[in-house]
Amino acid sequence: MAANFQPVTSAKGLVIRGGVVIDPASGVNGHRDVVIRDGKINAVTEPEGGAGADLTVIDASGCLVFPGLIDMHVHLREPGYEYKETIESGARAALAGGFSAVACMANTNPVNDSAAVTEFIRERAREVALARVYPIGAVSKQLKGEELAEIGEMHRAGIVAISDDGMPIMDGGLMRRALEYSSMFNLPVIVHEQDGTIAGDGVMNEGAVSMRLGLKGLPAAAEEAMVARDLAILERAGGRLHIAHLSTAGSVALVGDAKRRGLPVTAEVTPHHFSLTEAAVGAYNGNAKMNPPLRTARDVDAVRRGLADGTIDAIATDHAPHHRDEKEIEFDRALNGIIGLETAVPLALRMAEETNITLSALVMAMSTNPARILGVPGGSLALGVPADVTIVDPARRWTVCAAHFQSKSRNTPFEGMELQGQVVMTLVGGRVVWRRADV
Ligand SMILES: [Zn+2]
Repeated sequence: MAANFQPVTSAKGLVIRGGVVIDPASGVNGHRDVVIRDGKINAVTEPEGGAGADLTVIDASGCLVFPGLIDMHVHLREPGYEYKETIESGARAALAGGFSAVACMANTNPVNDSAAVTEFIRERAREVALARVYPIGAVSKQLKGEELAEIGEMHRAGIVAISDDGMPIMDGGLMRRALEYSSMFNLPVIVHEQDGTIAGDGVMNEGAVSMRLGLKGLPAAAEEAMVARDLAILERAGGRLHIAHLSTAGSVALVGDAKRRGLPVTAEVTPHHFSLTEAAVGAYNGNAKMNPPLRTARDVDAVRRGLADGTIDAIATDHAPHHRDEKEIEFDRALNGIIGLETAVPLALRMAEETNITLSALVMAMSTNPARILGVPGGSLALGVPADVTIVDPARRWTVCAAHFQSKSRNTPFEGMELQGQVVMTLVGGRVVWRRADV
């Protein structure tokens, strides 16, 4: 499957014609032309209004035109694990999946717990010049959950949030200090909610399937107990709490209740948690192993309803590349996580259709809200903002074949699945940095 990264640029600018523009931040939902000059949104006009007659035309007939999608939870693996992914390959995977920007977690080697590592990531992303890459700093030094990391200096170096993602923060006192301290910089604290004393060494959702397979279970209570604890701390400590990859019906209920009480909490769900159940573990499929684990049909229903009613703010992939030798082994030993950037859009489109979620709500969850939560540019096609744009052909059918992905890793549970909807073009700052060659 060919693809190309030759930027299409035009000295004067571009006009995207014929598409259906969905931009909830500006209240736009319908056929419009998007005029881009000097890398910025210059006008969003009625179709064939004549604006941009002097510009290079991008034909988006039959396509959806979104503000550039933003994935607020990815693992780019550089520095330290370049055999799984690099900032460059991860940024290519992002663009191919329609994400003009990603925020990358701190569990690299060395851990992003200092300004030096934050600066390294930003510098590599600048050199690569593909998707925008926003580093997330660690909450604790070395992700050990003991001492706060150098949050102030990382903030000056450009982090957009703090998180020990992958390592739940068991020390409630540290969690409280993280919320108090981060509030001085208005940085959200992104939390991986799992009480290790309840989780033990579970490897999949605890229930009928884990019993049948003879695998140790991760009970829903391990997640929900931590969500409840952190909401209680948030209520007193201040700051902003963002719950990563929420996965159970009980967590959705807790977040909904906290929001009704006005607490500054937001939450995300992954495409795999709204698309698959624990049944995907099947015959010990390592590519269905992640943390939090795939849950039950009732949990899938609950996270979908949470997205529909706004309890859940964002869709984030938790893109977690691993080498096949780390996944295609005994289930107990397989590493947690799957790649997600290049399948997110069609999975989200399918979920939205099945759940009666509007395209506007989908764009809110995949662009507008992540921009707002992280305080980064983008999330809209308002006049004068950098022209980050995603163009999707909602009718194209394709079969997932990870061997053709831009990611260096292949660990997806969606291999061989037929999906509908494909990203055909991604623009960053008015440059076409990704376009499918067969379009
Ligand atoms: Zn993660």
